[in-house]
Amino acid sequence: MPALNLALSKGRILEEVLPLLARAGITPAEDPLTSRKLVIATNEPELKLVVIRAADVPTYVEFGAADFGIAGRDVLLEYDGDSLYELMDLKIARCRLSVAEPANLAAADDPRRWTRVRVATKYPKITQRHFAAKGIQTDIIKLYGSMELAPLVGLSDRIVDLVSSGNTLKANGLVEVEHIADVSAWLVANRASMKMKHAAMKRVVERLARAVS
Ligand code: ADP
Ligand code: MG
Repeated sequence: MPALNLALSKGRILEEVLPLLARAGITPAEDPLTSRKLVIATNEPELKLVVIRAADVPTYVEFGAADFGIAGRDVLLEYDGDSLYELMDLKIARCRLSVAEPANLAAADDPRRWTRVRVATKYPKITQRHFAAKGIQTDIIKLYGSMELAPLVGLSDRIVDLVSSGNTLKANGLVEVEHIADVSAWLVANRASMKMKHAAMKRVVERLARAVS
């Protein structure tokens, strides 16, 4: 069996992926949530887990440093390049990407009349594409986290961010005004690996598929 590297997103996705791996019969040799190791062996001799920042997963997979990986649809939509093979929706880490703004602004605001908006976001490409498709110009302020803070301190009125319960928005006086996309974690693969290591990858993919359903 050839060696296989599976790239996992740290953070939110990792917490939900580990029970899925367990259902698929894949047991890490060390707990990825607490281990400082970046490459973790599993009970499957050929399969190793590579634990990296969510936004780096597509890069590792595109360049074949990982044969496959698990990343949020948000990260995949933001990633430039159609070189990844999208294998399956794992239906975990579900949330949505939305445009939000302060509730008091939303009360008198009509997104259909926007012609130019200033938006703070971790997702500049998705945001630009979303508004461009509606003929709206965007001034994007790129952030790396805590988008909800931007309207509170006058950085921008609008944000594009992930929403799950809506509690973080609510706690900061924000409301969703537009839905951009539904988000969940996907299994993606390197195209060359899919050809060269087909049998070995198929085994893992089939076990994950059974664990999803
Ligand atoms: P990072 O801060 O490195 O982006 P996160 O754990 O915040 O790490 O997010 C990693 C991925 O987890 C996101 O790309 C998204 O797909 C998913 N995610 C983030 N927040 C939520 C949430 N509230 N509910 C469900 N999935 C989420
Ligand atoms: Mg985060």
